[in-house]
Amino acid sequence: MQYVPFGKHGFDVSRLGMGTMRLPTMKNEEGNTVIDREAAIALIRRGIDNGITYVDTAYPYHGGESELVTGLALKDGYREKVKLATKLPIWALKEEADMNRILDEQLKKLDVPYVDFYLLHAMNKDRMELMRSYNYKAFLKEALADGRIRHAAFSFHDDKECFLDILHDYDWSMAQIQFNYLDDDKQATEEGLKAAGKAGVPLVIMEPLRGGALANPPADVKALMEAHDSRRSAVEWAFAYISDYAEVATILSGMSNQQQLDDNLAIFNNLTVGGLNDADKAFVKQLKEAYLARMPIGCTGCRYCVPCPNDVHIPVIFNAYNEMAMLGQEWKGSWGYGNIVKNGHDAAKCVGCGACEGVCPQSLPIIDLLAKIDKEYK
Ligand code: SF4
Ligand code: SF4
Repeated sequence: MQYVPFGKHGFDVSRLGMGTMRLPTMKNEEGNTVIDREAAIALIRRGIDNGITYVDTAYPYHGGESELVTGLALKDGYREKVKLATKLPIWALKEEADMNRILDEQLKKLDVPYVDFYLLHAMNKDRMELMRSYNYKAFLKEALADGRIRHAAFSFHDDKECFLDILHDYDWSMAQIQFNYLDDDKQATEEGLKAAGKAGVPLVIMEPLRGGALANPPADVKALMEAHDSRRSAVEWAFAYISDYAEVATILSGMSNQQQLDDNLAIFNNLTVGGLNDADKAFVKQLKEAYLARMPIGCTGCRYCVPCPNDVHIPVIFNAYNEMAMLGQEWKGSWGYGNIVKNGHDAAKCVGCGACEGVCPQSLPIIDLLAKIDKEYK
């Protein structure tokens, strides 16, 4: 296991962090899916026994059970071996006092007097506005002063401008962002990552495998990897890309079984900051281009075509279709598109009025594309 200094905080962390949003599950007597506690506790402890020193949980993971099980796993001396992070669910706040109430509830569930990192969870523009109106700085100051949290941080899902706004609004100890070689120009972006480094804010990375998709590339992308001299696996390329950045402290992986854990541990034994040479970096770019070339619809997301009089979410639909094609996943019955259907904004609602096609700078045959997408989904 590689260890890196956690910014200016005076301690090191393992490069691989234990995420607890995809713990092993089982059906309970009522037929509901719950965490398989015995397996989950064994998994977390096996990770720590093998050198992991960063454990990440959050209020909503596994329907609220993750914090509880993480707390159980950290008994018997394991708590002292790790830095523990959990997060404030901004969406659950009804009033300012809820911040303190929920933090206390979380400490109780985890059964610990303090957490090392407390993150404002999934921050975006609207949530930042709410946090400002709730005087979040006073809340963090109080929680730091009374010792319930050791470090204040935030996790993030919005665009670069929003990331920079939040980054520079407070003296954060850490920021957690989504970053992988397909998304290095999305959300916080590589530019945001570098800005955090410059500001002395270490980064924790989530979705390094894009929800697992980068571990299972489509055949043409896989063929590129297999032809490469290094013989790195798909997972190794994804982790090696992120690990190359000195700004990154810990890379979270939500592991569900021992095999995944052991594979990750083996990979992280060989990862270092600056571990990719120029040819490797060029190859990762080639992989990204190979993924992007799989997108069949040249929609740029400019949104000139919306609103559609029938409320068809044209760019959202095209983006969803492109993503599935890019990752080599099945469109028929797609879960993501299913939500668009459920909300009544799907391709089947198009009545062919043509208003969108006249304004599309890419001259896309939108009506035909929507018909094709609808047909393939059913
Ligand atoms: S052609 Fe279809 S998608 Fe385009 S504006 Fe008309 S109803 Fe909406
Ligand atoms: S106008 Fe064309 S390119 Fe722009 S979002 Fe709509 S479909 Fe995509």
